[in-house]
Amino acid sequence: MVFIDRRESEDWMPPQRSDCSCPEHDDELTGLALPVTERGMEPLTVRDLVEASALGVTPAQSRDRWLEIYDETDSGPDLIGPFHWGLRLGDEARLCYDDDAARSLDQALLDRPGVERVEWMEREEFLVGAPGLCASGLLAAMARALADPRVRAAAGR
Ligand SMILES: [Zn+2]
Repeated sequence: MVFIDRRESEDWMPPQRSDCSCPEHDDELTGLALPVTERGMEPLTVRDLVEASALGVTPAQSRDRWLEIYDETDSGPDLIGPFHWGLRLGDEARLCYDDDAARSLDQALLDRPGVERVEWMEREEFLVGAPGLCASGLLAAMARALADPRVRAAAGR
């Protein structure tokens, strides 16, 4: 049998739980409280968000692996990447962060070990460069970012 080796970043395969480099996984964070900005509401948990389909991770599609950033003052597009994961954050998670917080959610996610690159695409969608993290580990990283008190400006109000 002949194997054709075309290994580039294009051929990245999502690590499995057995061969990833995650510092922790989402099922280890069941006791982690995700405070909400709404007064009088109970904190959410990672499980709440996952069960509400408000937090999900899928391998980035190949067309999302690299992004072209157009800058009119520049001669051509800049390529940024590679991105490995698409991360979806639904409405329920909106309660966990403020847009005018001291630290934006993408910055807080970038603080997590193993996360190399974060691009906030739309309100609910992120692209994440994290080649060594498995899906569960990226969920855990996002949970930690949501638990970071700096993503909620409400504290001082
Ligand atoms: Zn992992």
